[in-house]
Amino acid sequence: VSTDLSRDWRDAREPAEVLHLDHAASSRQSTAVRDAVAGHVRLEGAVGGYVAEDAAEPGLERAREALRLLVGLENADVAFVDSASSALTALLMFWPVPSGSVVACLPGEYGPNRSVFARFGLVVRELPVDRIGRIDLELLPRWLAADSQRPALVHLTQVGSHRGVLQPAPATVEICRNAGVTVFIDAAQSLGQVDSRAGADAVYGASRKWLSGPRGVGMLATRPDRRVAEQMGTREGHIAGQVGLASALDEYLTRGPARTQELLAAVGRLTRETVDGAAGWAVVEPMNEPTAITTLAPPPGVDPLLVRMRLIERHRMVTSAFGTARAPGEMTGPLLRVSPHLDVLSEELEAFRTALIEVTER
Ligand SMILES: *Cc1c(COP(=O)(O)O)cnc(C)c1O
Repeated sequence: VSTDLSRDWRDAREPAEVLHLDHAASSRQSTAVRDAVAGHVRLEGAVGGYVAEDAAEPGLERAREALRLLVGLENADVAFVDSASSALTALLMFWPVPSGSVVACLPGEYGPNRSVFARFGLVVRELPVDRIGRIDLELLPRWLAADSQRPALVHLTQVGSHRGVLQPAPATVEICRNAGVTVFIDAAQSLGQVDSRAGADAVYGASRKWLSGPRGVGMLATRPDRRVAEQMGTREGHIAGQVGLASALDEYLTRGPARTQELLAAVGRLTRETVDGAAGWAVVEPMNEPTAITTLAPPPGVDPLLVRMRLIERHRMVTSAFGTARAPGEMTGPLLRVSPHLDVLSEELEAFRTALIEVTER
């Protein structure tokens, strides 16, 4: 997938020392992001953390504005936290849903999110989905109406960590709104990868994944009237990381979200076409799914965690492998995940296929 966009993305970074096919876990920061982080750290050294934070505020407000645009929530109250998981926890603390309430989520809900729901005493009910785990929009209105235990909340993970399937977030939000049900969206995998404008009541995500910002930064955007960020008050935070995220958001908007999303969809398609069937590995999601996440089910007797380790040790190729705890309601066995960004070349994907076959067989 060689385009100007792809070359620009590659040239904006230090050369990779590995074949990095793991952006769904943690991307590669650009030199501009790195310099923004370093610049803020230097300023903290020069004037102290609080004065430096005041100086960073205009840039942070620009980042909040960018996030409002990206999640389609005008005037949203935006807070920076340290991860997507802590955003969900903060959300449930400051937008309380009574213990014992029903939260509706996908069968493929992110495992750690289910643990957060349990910690808040919420009862999970699974939304109707099709064969690949995509929400069934035709059934949804009736499901919401007929449900004897009506959900207090729909929690939609727009793109899962365990499967590159894009959920129809705007249509889901509209149906829930008509039914008077609040919707929260987990956009940890969708911000920077797919169109995340859905106008949900609250949306949260992470900096380090598809936006290629620093680690240790998450964000939470809520409907302005809920004032979640305000209720959270002033908390200690990794301001240099937030400044880095602001820089990553600038780059993303300059590059163009629509062009980026389109190219990432092409990257996903090419990845799936290249690796499907290699040494018996099978692509889980539809070939044409408009995401850059490819998950592979192993041939019988092959352990994805071992294969991941061999790929790093023998070929310096970075992927993810995980067990069913990642999405316990949907996964039936461990998977290998391949998630390249805009810069990947078709010959790199070919080399990955060759390496995958080698490490699977020996
Ligand atoms: C990564 C991820 C999270 C958690 O993000 P953290 O920043 O690690 O807390 C939540 N949901 C999904 C779908 C994810 O991929």
